Amino acid sequence: MSSPNKRGGVAMMGRTHAAVGMASCLLALDAGAVAHGGILADASLVLAGVIGALLPDLDHPKSTAGSMLPFVSVPLSAMFGHRGATHSLLAAGLCFALGTAAAQAVPSIHSLPAFALGLAIGWLSHLAADMLNPAGAPLLWPHPRRFRFPLPSSPNGLLDSLLFWASAICSVVLIVRHSAPSI
Ligand SMILES: [Zn+2]
Repeated sequence: MSSPNKRGGVAMMGRTHAAVGMASCLLALDAGAVAHGGILADASLVLAGVIGALLPDLDHPKSTAGSMLPFVSVPLSAMFGHRGATHSLLAAGLCFALGTAAAQAVPSIHSLPAFALGLAIGWLSHLAADMLNPAGAPLLWPHPRRFRFPLPSSPNGLLDSLLFWASAICSVVLIVRHSAPSI
């Protein structure tokens, strides 16, 4: 279930962030914003999009990522609180920089640059999804201003469900379209 969080509003579920991260990477490939790099690189990009979309909630011990890595999420939560530093453009940039550095350190793994890019796309998709929540996201952290999309409030869980299904259907359509032989 979606759960209320300390800052107000209702938290997106992990499955929703994962679906949005996947759809974002597939859309980026489909639109040509990201160049196709072959099946392995494209699959790495999409997989990283899912992972990157879950990582910002490492600042919450009960989130999908936080419950898997409590030794990271508990101290992060204590230091920054939920939807703090990890929900900023700075954190997304840092994630991309670390991924890119890893790719340069191990050039023999050709799909690593795509993986680093996917992490960043997924991370940014998480910030965008959280901006649908009235609590918003502190994109310019450490500046305290929080950013949110000006949407009317909706019943608990409705927005989460809509976003999950829209992202899931979008992903299936894009995968089928690119898998089907051209007529
Ligand atoms: Zn979040």
